[in-house]
Amino acid sequence: MRCAIVHYHELALKGRNRPFFEARLVRNLRQVLRDLSVTQVESLPGRIRISLPNETPWKLVKTRLARIFGIANFSLAQSVPLEKDAHASLDALKSAIGDAVRELPFTTFRVTTKRADKRFPMTSMDVDREVGAHLCRLTGKRVSLDNPDLTVHIELLARDAYYSTQREAGPGGLPVGISGKVACLLSGGIDSPVAAQRMMKRGCKAVFVHFHGRPYVSRASEEKVREIVQLLTQYQLYSRLYLIPFGDIQRQIVLGAPAAFRVVLYRRMMLRIAEELARRERCWALVTGDSLGQVASQTPENLGVVEEAAQLPVLRPLIGMDKIEITEQAQRIGTFETSIEPDQDCCKLFVPAHPSTKTHLDQIRKAERGFDLDALVKQGLEGAELAEFRFPAQ
Ligand code: ATP
Ligand code: MG
Repeated sequence: MRCAIVHYHELALKGRNRPFFEARLVRNLRQVLRDLSVTQVESLPGRIRISLPNETPWKLVKTRLARIFGIANFSLAQSVPLEKDAHASLDALKSAIGDAVRELPFTTFRVTTKRADKRFPMTSMDVDREVGAHLCRLTGKRVSLDNPDLTVHIELLARDAYYSTQREAGPGGLPVGISGKVACLLSGGIDSPVAAQRMMKRGCKAVFVHFHGRPYVSRASEEKVREIVQLLTQYQLYSRLYLIPFGDIQRQIVLGAPAAFRVVLYRRMMLRIAEELARRERCWALVTGDSLGQVASQTPENLGVVEEAAQLPVLRPLIGMDKIEITEQAQRIGTFETSIEPDQDCCKLFVPAHPSTKTHLDQIRKAERGFDLDALVKQGLEGAELAEFRFPAQ
């Protein structure tokens, strides 16, 4: 039988959480492959088996699995049933592997066996040696333990042995969904998509919130953000994006507060509105793409003043990364090209020439006294539009 064998990092699993972790990973795998005629995804001891119909292209499966967090590695494998007679089983395995590698281009190889079920009467080393010797005889190729061109992986389970010659690295992390939900403030810039993806990698489901400058700017930033969310949905399979009109709220801040405080006041309003949505969506934290010292809103002083506006924890996964590292990461996850498209989001609206880089909480609170903050939050929420995204698209 043609299948994919998926391995996860045992170390990532803390004892009692394991069944939960596995069940979630199985569910995510079923979902990401559902349009590829894949019907069977099963938990076996220590690994997951995905039965692959012959018409399901491996290349496509490979790209999909490479984005499913929780996978340490995965391989395209074939199975051979294990009979009562271990020697007969081993012969069947040898001949199947011989047929499989005969046409492959390689000069050196090794065999790596894992005996997951100890009832099989031979050790992994015995199997390595037996199969290795058979392949040498059959192909005339050499064994190289340190740097082989081809590695044949064998896994011995209770009823079947699996072998494969292609093992791919997975993305690591924890299955999306096991760490609850977080509300990610997504700007359309380079940083915030990377921050959101980091949280997904730790098992969080991201709910996205974008503040746009309509009616003062065009829809460009919204289109960009939709595209970014579509890309990020490949990692979590279902996304919700809230689009919040922020232009008018900004205009009110501009009219009623000192120019130097605007940036901090905007950010505090964003957090308040996002927090309200986060509570409705049962998120346990807010996430931003802040990186220390990058812009006026990200100085040591202002970070603290901004986050004081929210009660939920404000997570900043990129806080200690510099722009080059973040940019590389954005390229790797596929959002960079979209992020650098020119746009006009609300951040470019009503920006003061000299934003204060060191605000104090009492100053800012005083500046906020002139506003009906609850009414502004309400205004944002009432204008909210919800968009949903699915991968694979239905
Ligand atoms: P980014 O590349 O993510 O835009 P940045 O370096 O441009 O970040 P800022 O514009 O100060 O920095 O934004 C800091 C963070 O505030 C962003 O990473 C994002 O989480 C949030 N944010 C900023 N603008 C918006 C917006 N229009 N909608 C939603 N969140 C925003
Ligand atoms: Mg920005």
